[in-house]
Amino acid sequence: MTTSRSIGAALTIFIAMTAAGQPQAVVYEGARLIAGDESSPIENSAFLVRNGRIAAIGRREDLKVPRGAAHVDLSGKTVIPALINVHAHLGYEGYTSWGAANYTSQNLLDHVQREAFYGTGAVMSVGSGPTAPSMQFQREQQTGRFPAAAQFLFMPGMAPPNGGPDEILRAATSTLHAVHEVSTASEARAVVREIAKAKIRNVKIWVDDRRGTYPKMSPEVYQAVIDEAHRHGIKVHAHATTLPDQKAVVRAGADVLVHLVQNEKLDDEYLELLREKKPYWATVIGLGDQTAVCQHDPFFEQALPDSVIAQIRATTQRRPLAPSCGPPSPNAGAREAVLAYNFPRMISAGARIVLGTDTGVHPGHTFGSGEHLELARWVQLGLTPQQAIVAATSRPAELLGLKDRGKLAAGMRADFVVLDADPLENILNSRRISAVYLDGSKLDRDALAAGFKSAHRAN
Ligand SMILES: [Zn+2]
Repeated sequence: MTTSRSIGAALTIFIAMTAAGQPQAVVYEGARLIAGDESSPIENSAFLVRNGRIAAIGRREDLKVPRGAAHVDLSGKTVIPALINVHAHLGYEGYTSWGAANYTSQNLLDHVQREAFYGTGAVMSVGSGPTAPSMQFQREQQTGRFPAAAQFLFMPGMAPPNGGPDEILRAATSTLHAVHEVSTASEARAVVREIAKAKIRNVKIWVDDRRGTYPKMSPEVYQAVIDEAHRHGIKVHAHATTLPDQKAVVRAGADVLVHLVQNEKLDDEYLELLREKKPYWATVIGLGDQTAVCQHDPFFEQALPDSVIAQIRATTQRRPLAPSCGPPSPNAGAREAVLAYNFPRMISAGARIVLGTDTGVHPGHTFGSGEHLELARWVQLGLTPQQAIVAATSRPAELLGLKDRGKLAAGMRADFVVLDADPLENILNSRRISAVYLDGSKLDRDALAAGFKSAHRAN
């Protein structure tokens, strides 16, 4: 019985594949569809997927459905494009250990599978991975060597010797010599030319002295990085967390600002500069997934091994850069007030907000869940849910030059998330994930979650 049924199933697939000389078309119908751009949602939509691409999309009554197409009923659901995260740190988390020894293809795959589980279709690992193995993984994944997962994208990082990532991340990056260390403008230009030769289109710089404890990249050096990068069509993502540093990197022409100005209110000079330059802005507010674990939120716990959850909950003394379930830091209120003041001003001055999470920068975070925290924080700070979705889909695609991602339209990849409730009504509904499709194929989220719950890595 089992055998004949599976032969029957195989035969059906065979017929479907060969009837038109190509894989079967599938029409997804009935959902409210949010395209990822500024357009109004389509009620009772339909879209046709063939060969992993959207072949046609529109209102259900307008869509011409080819004979023999399979139908998937999405009535009552909402569909959004898979998210695109421009700022994370992949490769070092192992869930039983953390560090350079974990930086393998298998572990990168685990991280991009976690991202996909939570609805992300592409994720950029920023400045912390070693170039050769990262580029190799990126290439191999593009040739279809690995199971379905978010597309891994890599960008290298540059910093002064002994500068760059914070002390925890640097313990991993320095072992692998992952960050390009540059002291002079000419060294910086040479590294950028190397990056250009490898056909890499983004680079990260750190401009941060970590409260006087780190060497900071000098204006002469980052100006050289930016000039040389722009000469080669490379975008520069600048980590900067103080008002003077953010002003300086924006004035120097950085394409992407990373992080918030932490403790200062923005001034008119900066807002004028933002109006002129309109940089992309990866706010990276979050990494609140551990706080959510402290609050027993199942959305964040579902992809973490119980041992990690227990560890997070057991740490009640709040230290910088460490997971903890202790009381919020005494500065939290003041920081929040500055953020509430600065955020809407950044946006109305023209900073082009894009999704980034910093996941993986420290141990014990769930890849993929932070995206949903960032979305919720933006709405809390004044974006509309639709603006938040644009900033998590089509705008990061535009920034990264991903021409067939970030939007649901004819010709685009069929990377989408089916939600049980509408995120335009409540952005927290981005977490009500019913299904994730990448390249037109439905992820087996149950199997993935079961794997994530077991702390599987032995090293
Ligand atoms: Zn980062």
